[in-house]
Amino acid sequence: MMHQKINFVFEAQQVYKYTLRKQNAASRMAKLKLLKEAIARHEDEINLALHKDLRKSQFETAVTELLFVYGELDFAINNLRDWMRPKRAGKTLSNPFSKNRIYYEPKGVCLIMAPWNYPFQLTMGPLISAIAAGNCVMLKPSEISPATSAVVGKIIADVFEEQEVACFEGNADLATALLKLPFDHIFFTGSTAVGKIVMEAAAKNLCSVTLELGGKSPTLIDRDVDLPKAVEKIAWGKLINSGQTCIAPDYVFVPQERVDEFIGLYKAATEKLFFKSEAQIEPRAYAKIISPKHFRRLKTLVDEAVEKGARINWGGTFDEKSQTIYPVLLSQLPANTQVMEEEIFGPILPIISYQDIDKAIEQINAKSKPLALYIFSRNAKNIKKIIKSTSSGGVCVNDVLVHIANPKLPFGGVNSSGIGSSHGFFGFRNFSHERAVVFQSKLDFNRLVYPPYQGKEWVL
Ligand code: NAD
Repeated sequence: MMHQKINFVFEAQQVYKYTLRKQNAASRMAKLKLLKEAIARHEDEINLALHKDLRKSQFETAVTELLFVYGELDFAINNLRDWMRPKRAGKTLSNPFSKNRIYYEPKGVCLIMAPWNYPFQLTMGPLISAIAAGNCVMLKPSEISPATSAVVGKIIADVFEEQEVACFEGNADLATALLKLPFDHIFFTGSTAVGKIVMEAAAKNLCSVTLELGGKSPTLIDRDVDLPKAVEKIAWGKLINSGQTCIAPDYVFVPQERVDEFIGLYKAATEKLFFKSEAQIEPRAYAKIISPKHFRRLKTLVDEAVEKGARINWGGTFDEKSQTIYPVLLSQLPANTQVMEEEIFGPILPIISYQDIDKAIEQINAKSKPLALYIFSRNAKNIKKIIKSTSSGGVCVNDVLVHIANPKLPFGGVNSSGIGSSHGFFGFRNFSHERAVVFQSKLDFNRLVYPPYQGKEWVL
């Protein structure tokens, strides 16, 4: 039944995309404004849904979901005319009087698939870019955050006809059925493992992809650093949404002689930010783990590390009933612990002590290219060296996460942490085909290279 429905909508969108591509900036802007109004009308429901799915407080929902989406909407509305305007390209010697332009044309019918961790932002963000670029969209939010996915579906149905944007709630089976369709573009946010499935499916239809994936984002603390300030930032970035953030600092390199100081500061910072009393987490500031299955995965990561000889330096209370994991600090990790192999995606922070910063860089480069890299240092030479000797989707120097909040920067990964980018113009560009258009002038010299070639050697 669902398969019939997706095929029906897909066919309808295949027809409508030709109408849509003729619409101008004003009508796309009008649609974005309608979307903004619909989101504002549903704010209470969005707050309730995010509390139900992740125990996000209203404040955190405002900061990490709603303000981000409103920001993307306003940025697109204010800049769309400029983004859509064909860009001038230089002329060539052989066609000196031609007009050369890059047109941004809609890709057509796009599939957006989203994860559960920022379930509102990560469905609406790509949707805004897709609409700005003039596309039809079939959107599949995550089944693991069902309350938010339902509100997303409601908002979309409020603003759009299905022939333009349609939302389908469902699990991996539905995603598998959607991936069989020959979309013009797929924008996927989720795990690296599923990203590979998406890219393989897309290859069958030679469909372009944007893959916003995950990975282990390292933090490197230099010797020359304001440690208390650095640790407070790391604690916030690690523990917001209980570590269920794609660009959360995954593990941290600390100079060997400052590990004890780091542990004391991290404990103090997390207590200040996330606790209501000495032993009690403040549930209004600290999200729950999304599901019992994810809760058990995180517990197993810690148990396995401890069994192999790692030390819990702090925390480690696992409250199954409320799906809450208190912040955990791990150190002295032996080789090949799972916690140092897979993306943690929870409030567990492994400390890797180092003596020589070059060895820390080698350890970073021994793993897949991460989505983010965080450097805390006052030493400009070291900062430059670390940036030049590593690769990652993005870098933040002396802060964490904030690079995601600037729509003027591309957001995305590299290789196993992602392909392509999102936000602002970069999102618009990912949902557009950059089409080369040449307007030839009456006067051109191309005939100089037409056959017969005899006597034309002088041209070369
Ligand atoms: P996931 O890959 O399990 O799921 C993402 C989407 O894929 C969901 O809609 C899901 O229904 C679908 N899916 C799941 N299994 C599938 C399959 N076998 N075939 C087809 N589709 C399938 O990811 P998740 O657990 O929802 O999210 C967590 C991951 O997402 C983390 O790795 C995190 O780093 C990453 N993430 C990345 C970004 C980013 O912007 N780069 C943002 C948020 C999350």
